[in-house]
Amino acid sequence: MTPLARELERLLPEADRLLDPADCWAYGSDNSRLHAIPEAVAFARDADTVAELVRLCRRLGAPLVVRGRGTGTTGAVVPDRGGLVLSLERMNRILEVDPGNRWLIAQPGATNAEIQTTAGEHGFFWPPDPTSSAFCTLGGNLAYNSAGPHAVKYGTPRENTLGLEAVAGTGQRFRTGVRTTKGVVGYDLTRLLIGSEGTLGIITEATLKLTPRPECTHLLQAVYPDIESAAQAVTRLMARAESPSALEFMDRSAITMIRGYGGVELPEEAGAILMIEVDGSAEGIAGRAAGIRTVAADGALHVDMADTHEAMERLWKVRKALSPALRTIAPKKINEDVVVPVSRIPALIGGLEELATRHAIRIVNFGHAGNGNIHVNLLVNPDDPEEMQRAEACLDDVFRLVLSLDGSLSGEHGIGLVKRPFVGRELDPAALELMEGVRAAFDPDGILNPGKAPPTPGE
Ligand SMILES: Cc1cc2nc3c(=O)[nH]c(=O)nc-3n(C[C@H](O)[C@H](O)[C@H](O)COP(=O)(O)OP(=O)(O)OC[C@H]3O[C@@H](n4cnc5c(N)ncnc54)[C@H](O)[C@@H]3O)c2cc1C
Repeated sequence: MTPLARELERLLPEADRLLDPADCWAYGSDNSRLHAIPEAVAFARDADTVAELVRLCRRLGAPLVVRGRGTGTTGAVVPDRGGLVLSLERMNRILEVDPGNRWLIAQPGATNAEIQTTAGEHGFFWPPDPTSSAFCTLGGNLAYNSAGPHAVKYGTPRENTLGLEAVAGTGQRFRTGVRTTKGVVGYDLTRLLIGSEGTLGIITEATLKLTPRPECTHLLQAVYPDIESAAQAVTRLMARAESPSALEFMDRSAITMIRGYGGVELPEEAGAILMIEVDGSAEGIAGRAAGIRTVAADGALHVDMADTHEAMERLWKVRKALSPALRTIAPKKINEDVVVPVSRIPALIGGLEELATRHAIRIVNFGHAGNGNIHVNLLVNPDDPEEMQRAEACLDDVFRLVLSLDGSLSGEHGIGLVKRPFVGRELDPAALELMEGVRAAFDPDGILNPGKAPPTPGE
């Protein structure tokens, strides 16, 4: 028995630890499909246990990988250096909802959907809404700054979190942020921890900023002959004073893939589709939606508008068909989530089409157009080494293209393991050196998720 296993037996009840490699196996991967078996898995039920486990790992020099539900796509929870996987799925209580102060306090293992349900009972919602909401945890949402379609109007976890409680790599517990809507005492550690992928601290509690649920929602589906017309519409829509509450996009290759899938019918000449949601008070929403329709219609083949739940569901069906269609056609796709300024979307899509031809790789693009956050899917067969080689070269060119357009390598999926080799292209050595110093301040012995997220300069 290893020293770590021996100590876990002493510290935790049997129900809160896994030591047999066969039991630990399921805690060795995420949606990146990378896999490594940890030495042990622990389930914490409170912050004191988290702190104790961190101190234990520090004393033993064992890597500690904190984990929500493992739905991340970049391998951040894969214990490739062994050590302990600390699962927070059992720290899942919603502790307090305060509609007057517009906050909700929850433990990190609560799922995004549970938070939405509780907030909804009080007439509120928490804006970050990843598609994986039913299963992913608050801790994962915060550590990846994950978001979904509504980020275009309401922002990401960084804009919707008031404060945190966490445990640093020293085992020390600390609080960040405020319970007020203003506050400027000290450095903003809340936003530093958000997006830090489990490398600076383990979040044990979060105070979330709630937003009142809009009274009404209208949805428009605009079909364009080509990406240029759609992209121009995106720029026009985003230049308006009133932001759409969602602005989703799919390109010709995505349309081709879903045409006929699950009863979805789309015209042959469709080259791009925008899904545009407008929300707000009931008074005047019809007029505001009509205004958006006029802006979207310029250059469109046609625009459909829905104002009832059933009609909106019918329109969303097109967008929702994408994931299952992709899974059927290419179960092992490479899925990137690059971001560019919205005005550069046409250049990005044009460039991607050129790269698809040059490298003979099928690429399907869709995503959150209002944020310029495009999911670029390279459809590959991992059992074909020659195709995988072409895909790697293609990916390299995709990142080069994105950075040349003033973009960023990831809008919401993070760095994890898989994007590490490319980070030095986006962040300069001086910035990486500062990040290294920040990391050392939180985690002097480098036990928290080592080898993940930002690399050291020159690595
Ligand atoms: C079908 C599907 C759809 C998806 N859709 C979206 C989407 O629309 N938008 C989007 O942004 N992402 C999406 N994702 C990716 C993923 O669901 C999100 O990144 C999610 O936030 C991860 O949550 P998790 O609980 O699974 O975290 P995990 O994958 O377990 O962990 C993610 C990261 O968080 C860290 N972490 C977890 N808990 C804590 C904690 N308490 N303290 C500190 N660090 C912690 C981990 O170490 C790791 O670095 C999707 C994934 C799938 C499979």
